Amino acid sequence: MKIITDERCAGYSSYGHPENPRRVTATIAHLKQPMDLPLAWTAPGEVSDRQILRAHSPEHLARLKIPEDFDADTPFYENITNYAHASAAAALDAWKAACNGENVFSLMRPPGHHATREQAMGFCYLNNIAIAALEALATGAKRVAVFDFDVHHGNGTEAILLNQPGVAFFSIHLYPFYPGTGGANIGKNCFNYPVTPGSPRETYRATLAQALADLKKFKPELVAVSAGFDAYVRDPLGGGALEPEDFHWLGQSLRAPGVPMFSVLEGGYSRDLPELILAYLKGVEEK
Ligand SMILES: [Zn+2]
Repeated sequence: MKIITDERCAGYSSYGHPENPRRVTATIAHLKQPMDLPLAWTAPGEVSDRQILRAHSPEHLARLKIPEDFDADTPFYENITNYAHASAAAALDAWKAACNGENVFSLMRPPGHHATREQAMGFCYLNNIAIAALEALATGAKRVAVFDFDVHHGNGTEAILLNQPGVAFFSIHLYPFYPGTGGANIGKNCFNYPVTPGSPRETYRATLAQALADLKKFKPELVAVSAGFDAYVRDPLGGGALEPEDFHWLGQSLRAPGVPMFSVLEGGYSRDLPELILAYLKGVEEK
């Protein structure tokens, strides 16, 4: 299992914000403890403007350098454009590793799935998973599936990938809930699996199982995963019902089709995040 990370992604923060550096630093510390899952650590490379501009407008790239907050949840930080670039580069590296037959996880921040073509929002600045999926399509992939199990709808990914040929987007999330989208399927290729807030774990699992079955029917040659861990029952922002073993099962299930697959970290704000990520990685490795 390859882990793509860089401790420098812990270099920005604002007091009290749930998307904090500890999410990554505590996970790195947890994964570096002696254990039975062998890990190879690597730092992200580079992402070009050409690659980013498949998913975002030039105006958006320029906006990331202007020192004004994007919304109440999404502050401007000094050098946030560099942090966002590194996180996008890690997603691209994860895709490349997957194409080489490796199991791989991008352990970076900021997350990306709420960022639209034109707008940073919901703690997200560049849409890492969309940038990687569009790069895969631009370099010859014919059937790319993006699977998003973050408890919030991946509105940015959906908006960017809507009706793009060769890619399908599957998102399971609470609805109605932030960001307010994802109540139904849209376009030719965006499939939403809303779960009513307060639903029991069995309902959440059954909905996930339906989404996974539909993903399999799509017969992807590449699976790109927006791995958010905020559907965890004890997540402070979530409101989902999943337990650690559910993330293990998700890892196993997403790996099961046997096609190249990579995951990038989205949300997940509980102190148990390191354990949840490890459970998921063990699932991926076991197949
Ligand atoms: Zn989330």
